[in-house]
Order: sequence, then C-alpha cells, then structure tokens
Amino acid sequence: MRVGGLSEEQLLARILPRLPAGTDTLLGPGDDAAVVRAPDGRFVVSTDVLVEGRHFVRAWSSGADVGWRAAMQNLADVAAMGARPTSLTVSLVLPDDVEVDWVLGVADGLAQACGPHGVGVVGGDLSGGPAIVAAVTVHGDLAGRAPVRRSGARPGDVVVHSGLLGHSAAGLALLRAHGPTAAGPPVPDADFVRAFRRPDPPLTDGPAAADAGATAMMDVSDGLLKDLGRIARASGVSVDLSSRDLGPAVDELDVVAQACEASALGWVLTGGEDHGLVATFPPGAAYPAGFRRIGVIGPAPDRSGEQAEGTVPDGGTRVTLDGEPPAVGGSGWDHFGSS
Ligand SMILES: [Mg+2]
Repeated sequence: MRVGGLSEEQLLARILPRLPAGTDTLLGPGDDAAVVRAPDGRFVVSTDVLVEGRHFVRAWSSGADVGWRAAMQNLADVAAMGARPTSLTVSLVLPDDVEVDWVLGVADGLAQACGPHGVGVVGGDLSGGPAIVAAVTVHGDLAGRAPVRRSGARPGDVVVHSGLLGHSAAGLALLRAHGPTAAGPPVPDADFVRAFRRPDPPLTDGPAAADAGATAMMDVSDGLLKDLGRIARASGVSVDLSSRDLGPAVDELDVVAQACEASALGWVLTGGEDHGLVATFPPGAAYPAGFRRIGVIGPAPDRSGEQAEGTVPDGGTRVTLDGEPPAVGGSGWDHFGSS
C-alpha cells in the first residue's frame, strides 16, 4: 500500500503507536502541541533536514535507516552542546507513491535511535510533496551546565575526538562500488555500511566532556577538517592535527580504502556523517575515557597565508596536519557543493 491511498489521519494512526514516549514527556502526541519537561529551566534546541536524493537514496537506505539517521544527527547536535537530548518533533513530506511500510520504517528507526536514550518523539507533521523530506527538531537539557560552544578553544588546548572517523564515508564508498546487493558487502565491510546507514555517536560523551571542562565542542557532521575549521574560526585559533595520533583511526580503514582505491587518511580527515564528537580541553585536563587525542590548538593563522590558500573556502588553512596543509581533495562534505 502507498501513502496516497491513506488519509493523513489513517497514516498517523499507524505511525503514532510506534513512536517512543520519552522519559521527559509530560504530554505526548494527540493534542495541538506536546509538553516536555525542561528540568534545567532552559532548553537546547536544534533542527536538521534530510532530503531524498541529497542526503539519502531509497535504494541504499531503508525507511528505518533514514529515521535512525534523522534522529541521530539531531541527538548528536544536542550532545555536542553538552546536553542530554529529551525530545524530537518530526515532519515528513511524502510523495503519494511512497510505500506505507517505508514510512512505518521511519517511525521504527526513530524509535530504535531514541528509545534507548529516553528521548520522546512528541509531535510533527505530515504533508504530500514532490520528494521525501524529513525535518527533525530536537530539544535537550543542560542539567545546569554551561553550553559548550565552538568559540572557546584556546592556543595550547588539546583536540580530542570520541566516536568513529571516516567509517560512514567508507560505507558510502562500498555501496557505490558494490551496490546494495542481496548478499551485501563482504562481512568485514558490513560494519562500515552500517556506520553509513546508522551512525551511532557517543551521545553521553557530550555531557561528560562538558562536565570535564571542554572549552569547545562539535559533532563531526561534515568532516574533521571542515568542522574543526569552524571551531578554529569561531575561536580565532588554528588547529594542528597529528598523523601519529590519527594513526589508529587510519589503520581501521586501510584495507577497505585499498579495496575502494581511496585514501584512508582522506576518509578520516574529510568523511562526514559519523557524528562523533570533537572537543578541546585545556592542556593537562583529564578528558573522559571515550575521547582520544588527535591534535593541538595553535594561535590564529597568518592572514596572508590564508589568502594564498584561498581555494579552500571554509577555514581549511586554519587546520593543518603535522604543521602542513593536508594533502587531501576538498575539506569535507558540502551539502550544497557539487562533490
Ligand atoms: Mg553539529
């Protein structure tokens, strides 16, 4: 059955029972609006959108995969502020020919991602339209913490990362190479495809980093170089990554990168959508166990050098590898770019 054969009420009646209630939900779906507890007296809010053909293709991701990813990329944004996510609202634009089962899969993927974290899906909207669009708004609670911003990194701070680097990019490359065949990729590669379809960021490391005194933090959605460039720009500093510190992350990708004729280091530096957390800490600070050191914060770069390297528009020259501009193509995933 396709969604064009159901009324909005009929489709909602099938979706709603699948959605997670959440531990902070005081009033869930069914009224004009939901009511969610905000124990801190403030709430963190962010929003994100997934567009078919731009952020996913139905051949490579199930409805449940899309629901999972739509949830996780929002939950990661809240975690990156040092907060615990509490609730989502989800709006879906659906062409008439989309299978109802695909949409119910989205609800299941949202539930699988949110349920274990106590996050409720408390409302949203449905509309017909020319392409599938999933728009998610997330709310979170800081539990008295100051939000960790992009602008707090200082020269001498250490740069640390928690989660995966380049695994989603490897999974996408495998899907491009092999397609979503019934047999799937070779078993050792299945984890990479899963990382692409269902990124599973270390959400609890966000509040843990805030408690431990992180000076800046982001989730890595567009690639390490690009996102660290944003921290560097906001903080008025530079970042020097260490190839020795990144070695273990590169090694994890070596075999699959060779099979795909790609660069493992390139995936680590520019692969997006793993949604791990990158943070900075004052020198000598004890950062939470999930984080690994990957580099150090330096002073603001020489502006003349920045202009000379003007081909990298998003702060690329603010981020170096062993003191040199990284020799990889592009500085990260750009949703509006041609790559
Ligand atoms: Mg983010």
